[in-house]
Amino acid sequence: MPRVPATAETIDQAALLLRDGRLVAFPTETVYGLGADATNGMAVAAIFEAKGRPHFNPLIVHVPSLEQAASLGQFGSLAHHLARAFWPGPLTLVVRQVAGSPIADLTTAGLDTIALRVPSHPVARALMIAAQCPIAAPSANRSGHVSATEAHHVEADLGPRVAMILDAGPSEQGLESTVIDATGTLPVLLRPGGITAEEIARVTGVASVRAADVTARPISPGQLASHYAPGAAVRLNATNVAPGEALLAFGPSGPMHAGPTINLSPSSDLREAASRLFAALRELDASGVRGIAVMPVPETGLGAAINDRLRRAGAPR
Ligand code: AMP
Ligand code: MG
Repeated sequence: MPRVPATAETIDQAALLLRDGRLVAFPTETVYGLGADATNGMAVAAIFEAKGRPHFNPLIVHVPSLEQAASLGQFGSLAHHLARAFWPGPLTLVVRQVAGSPIADLTTAGLDTIALRVPSHPVARALMIAAQCPIAAPSANRSGHVSATEAHHVEADLGPRVAMILDAGPSEQGLESTVIDATGTLPVLLRPGGITAEEIARVTGVASVRAADVTARPISPGQLASHYAPGAAVRLNATNVAPGEALLAFGPSGPMHAGPTINLSPSSDLREAASRLFAALRELDASGVRGIAVMPVPETGLGAAINDRLRRAGAPR
């Protein structure tokens, strides 16, 4: 029975599960989160698997304090200002990652920025402190379903896909966190939520918070600012490797290649492949090859999200 009342004892058990790479659903003041150790790529891959998400998007990383957040992201004066005004609370700040960050590539979908939040819910705080790891958590619902605001919603939606559900009653706000890009000097609203643009404008003294305008100019999927795109051309469903190409392999067999080669999972484990995907693309890209030949990846389970990312990476631009 994965759903238990949140007590000091069950929170400690949940923390051990998280450290062990398992998934734990937990209450926050916004909605219930589906949490995993943000530094463990396999655990984060399990989040996407459990949600049945057909694509990888960057996840919000939850930490207990601004000090913790500042060990993972670079806080300029705007980010500091917003954090001091609204943390703990329903505000997520996107900042640049620190060099050598321990966060798994899959958590940030390969980006060099990171979305950070310090939740105020006492159970979320106790869990983060007990787990002693940053917790990656999207809303605890299957993809396409509404966000879960009660533990029994999580149970109905995700059931045995999570190791434990900490029940602390209905969420106070029931609305997702506001996401602000604080990498520049002006705040950019990426997602409206619990904290209004007006509140943010009041605190920052900026007359209006600019909403991220992704419709203003034509962009191909791979170029979206929130998506990592390699410079090398990506060729999908490759059964051979052309001169000047690197090989991104999958499974126990494939074309022989003397040049740069990475196997996403020699044992055809899609969770392992997902956890390695972004680092592999980056590494092959950095080897200076003209293109990356990618072997076929099955379209089942996590394969759908892996192929979605590869298709975007391969889109003409
Ligand atoms: P969810 O997973 O539903 O909680 O949504 C997380 C939100 O944060 C999405 O809107 C993401 O696009 C956004 N987000 C997370 N990380 C980043 C990032 N590094 N850059 C831009 N947006 C981000
Ligand atoms: Mg959601």
